[in-house]
Amino acid sequence: VRLFSQPIQKVANITNVVQSTVAAAERIFEILDEPEEKAESNVLPYHAHTKGNITFENVSFAYQKDQPLLQDVNIKVKQGQKVAIVGPTGAGKSTLMNLLLRFYDVDQGQITIDGTDIQQMRREDVRAQFGLVLQDPWLLSSTVKANIAYGHEGATEDEIVQAARAAHADHFIRTLPHGYETILNESGSNISQGQKQLLTIARALLSNPSILVLDEATANVDSRTEYQIQEALAHLMKGRTSFIIAHRLSTIRNADLILVMDQGKIVAQGSHDELLANGGFYANLHQQHA
Ligand code: ADP
Repeated sequence: VRLFSQPIQKVANITNVVQSTVAAAERIFEILDEPEEKAESNVLPYHAHTKGNITFENVSFAYQKDQPLLQDVNIKVKQGQKVAIVGPTGAGKSTLMNLLLRFYDVDQGQITIDGTDIQQMRREDVRAQFGLVLQDPWLLSSTVKANIAYGHEGATEDEIVQAARAAHADHFIRTLPHGYETILNESGSNISQGQKQLLTIARALLSNPSILVLDEATANVDSRTEYQIQEALAHLMKGRTSFIIAHRLSTIRNADLILVMDQGKIVAQGSHDELLANGGFYANLHQQHA
């Protein structure tokens, strides 16, 4: 069973209509992966752990042939860098991540991880390099423990608790009726939205990926939980290449690289200071937020 069986943004819809059990997750994976995900030949041997150097080279992509979306995208990210992706709704931010995770394949150009074209890697080997923390985390109808260990079934009790501690989730888990053995219901409605996020962060920490994809929207979270989420995310991102679909000004400002997207193009990229100095789209965006 793999954690990332659905393109970004489809997760919420699908988990609403299909029971969130492991079996159902497997079924979703099968449904979505065929028929496009054809048998893969010429794949390279699996590198257990990548460093997380990533490039997009002249990447173009369209969901529908007559509607080009991404056009000639070039990005170079070094191991451990934090990349904030900003731009209006529909700009192509999620699409960029969908390509990186190989939910779709590029029409032109290539995406590499540590110098290897991801089309030469098995999809599951590509996705195994990633941790994903999305806006609307989904949970299994199972124990807290199983939810943290999801995708990493061999984890020991001790490792699970360590991950929960690092994610600032241990404290609230211990206040639940049965602690780590508490069964979460399907929609996770017996814990708060913010607590769900902390569990997903614990899950990502446990799987120890070299690359992260984070969607930062933090709606309906009280300020204390918000603080815990930010702390947990900072811990998670340390030393890992991170792509953040960013909404918070502080995240954008502190990113090593900001990608400003509009209508399928990267209209500007650089650090906060560089982009501000150049004026234009980013300066306007910044003004609107400030
Ligand atoms: P963002 O994340 O910046 O809001 P998206 O990457 O989600 O933007 O979407 C970019 C464009 O692609 C939008 O016009 C959106 O409607 C379209 N789009 C997104 N996903 C699909 C899909 N699966 N099939 C067809 N069009 C899509």
